[in-house]
Amino acid sequence: MLPAIFVSHGSPMLALEDAEARDFLKRLPALLPERPKAILMVSAHWERLRPAVNAPPANETIHDFGGFPPALYQIQYPAPPSAALAKRVADLLAAAGLPTDIDQSRGLDHGAWAPLMVAWPEADIPVVQLSVQTRLGTTHHYRLGQILAPLREEGVLIVGSGSFTHDLASLRTSGGRIDAPEPDWVHAFAEWMTAALLENRVDDLLNYRRLAPQAAHNHPTEEHLLPLYVALGVAPDKVNHLHQSTTYGILRMDAFAFG
Ligand code: ZN
Repeated sequence: MLPAIFVSHGSPMLALEDAEARDFLKRLPALLPERPKAILMVSAHWERLRPAVNAPPANETIHDFGGFPPALYQIQYPAPPSAALAKRVADLLAAAGLPTDIDQSRGLDHGAWAPLMVAWPEADIPVVQLSVQTRLGTTHHYRLGQILAPLREEGVLIVGSGSFTHDLASLRTSGGRIDAPEPDWVHAFAEWMTAALLENRVDDLLNYRRLAPQAAHNHPTEEHLLPLYVALGVAPDKVNHLHQSTTYGILRMDAFAFG
């Protein structure tokens, strides 16, 4: 049975730029016990007040960023949509008391396509996105994972795509260097989170903002961490640390498997 995965997508340049996290993503399909029939991407870059899934006629590649080289805007990731999976997700959530919108126009944002184009460059596995509800915090997203866990048995790979640390205001301290050193406040937070994950301390993780060192500094807003909680909710008692690296000093690129 497939695990759920959390990946850090980092800068959109992940799609083009050599990095350890990119090498990890290339290896990811071989780490899975089976090829996914479909992928449900929970991306930090689709924020809605209540859950929404996308089911367009075709997945448009959304270039939702500014100030990057032209090559990044040329990228297309035409993975097929899946109206059936979108409906299945909406039905599961609705049955649990969470009304869910089906968006028939939205395609794939870079939180979805940047890691996917590295891992599955053929773009031949159907992809559906699920939005995050940033204002609803960790417990809501953990519950989303609990509700969606049965999808594992249906060959669906649930992927939370965010960033293990994400204080973009500190990006300038890297001087634009992808190999800039990691500051202590990033390291301390990532170490705390990693230990809590590997020790299955779910209550601590749900309260990370109060308990983890430098939590608000690493995540001034929570949307890039909340996809982790969806993956955690799928299988909180079996956590594997799949990858650890850092880009630009402040963007931890860690990945975890759940289940
Ligand atoms: Zn992002």
